[in-house]
Amino acid sequence: MIEVNDMFYAKSSDAAIADAGEYGGAVTSILKFLLKEGIVDAVLAVEEGADLYDAVPILIEDPDKVVKSAGSIHFGTLNLAKVVEKYLDGAQDMKIAVTVKPCDAMTMVELIKRERVNPDNVIMIGLNCGGTMPPVKSREMMEKFYEFDPDSVVKEEIAKGKLIVETADGTEKEIPIDDLEDEGFGRRTNCRRCEINIPTMADLACGNWGVIGPLAGKATFIEVCSPKGAEVLEKAKEAGALDLEEPIEKGITIRKNIDNAMVKLADKWQDADWEDVKGREIFSALTEYLPDFSRCIKCYGCREACPICYCDDCCLEAHNGPDWLSKGEIPPSPMFHLERMIHMVESCTNCGQCEEVCPSEIPLAKIWHEVNAKVKDNFGYVKGTGENKPPMGFFPMDKMPL
Ligand code: SF4
Ligand code: SF4
Ligand code: SF4
Repeated sequence: MIEVNDMFYAKSSDAAIADAGEYGGAVTSILKFLLKEGIVDAVLAVEEGADLYDAVPILIEDPDKVVKSAGSIHFGTLNLAKVVEKYLDGAQDMKIAVTVKPCDAMTMVELIKRERVNPDNVIMIGLNCGGTMPPVKSREMMEKFYEFDPDSVVKEEIAKGKLIVETADGTEKEIPIDDLEDEGFGRRTNCRRCEINIPTMADLACGNWGVIGPLAGKATFIEVCSPKGAEVLEKAKEAGALDLEEPIEKGITIRKNIDNAMVKLADKWQDADWEDVKGREIFSALTEYLPDFSRCIKCYGCREACPICYCDDCCLEAHNGPDWLSKGEIPPSPMFHLERMIHMVESCTNCGQCEEVCPSEIPLAKIWHEVNAKVKDNFGYVKGTGENKPPMGFFPMDKMPL
């Protein structure tokens, strides 16, 4: 009987999927099995859009089409929790399986706590993540560092700290990610600071770290993270969709070591981003960011992209906001940002969507990550995990200093 915390090397028992999917195609097989058996109505995943730099969400209802979502896209920076909340009505009517990076999974957890996503209708298939790269800058990186026409690139892969890129004519080149990042390229800045690489808040956490021995490169390491995940894996195994093997002990240690190394690297980037200001008060931090806020053109892009911002009637709208917001001034009063901060910052998962879309290049994810870290210090609340409700949004009324 499969139980929570169990770990496996898994591969698809379907040769075609094992071939098309990454690392034995286990994730693709699980998704296909869930659809085929009617356990879910649809699978929400990511597929390549116009090109390698264009990751788009895809809702799949035909089990034979699941294979379209196989493989990872490091130049894709979507947050699928937003898609679930906004476009699938928080999975209120439809049962779905969704592939989630740690920041998607943590955001899903926060949306579940805020009753914006129905947990009974969602199965989260977690994917390890070491970072994603901004599409436009990645095209530039291809020209500048790889000396490739960005459109000629057909494959990319991150392995052993290097970004390996292949063009249509089979030319391959690899560059250490550290070297790219020292020059301002590589992973998004929020990803560099990200400390959660294995999504244990999902139902299953899947990846290639720790697969060694004869199955190296040919199987996926799966950690069972919830009773729901255990049930899914048990059923998939019983149905013959997956071959499961116990992982090699040394492989488990290697996976843990890789995770620890990624956390250390994230700490290094946090130190670099916040220099020696880690202990500063929120007020002094926000004061420092006022010049950044003054570049805001009030386009609402950050609010639209943020998966935690979901109010139907947003108080930031000029026509219905309080006085200090309603004057239509550009830049808006800093209260525009502080009001949004009150609504989302305790649940901010450092997903980077806000910063990604900001036309004024305000380092929004960096700002809100710093404030979120203060919330953690002051309230002991760790976003995206556990069952505790966000402390400010659910502050008990009887403790309000009225
Ligand atoms: S924020 Fe973390 S989980 Fe999200 S894409 Fe970046 S590295 Fe991956
Ligand atoms: S504020 Fe930015 S980084 Fe935080 S959850 Fe919203 S979009 Fe993600
Ligand atoms: S995306 Fe940038 S410019 Fe637009 S409202 Fe947000 S902070 Fe202002």
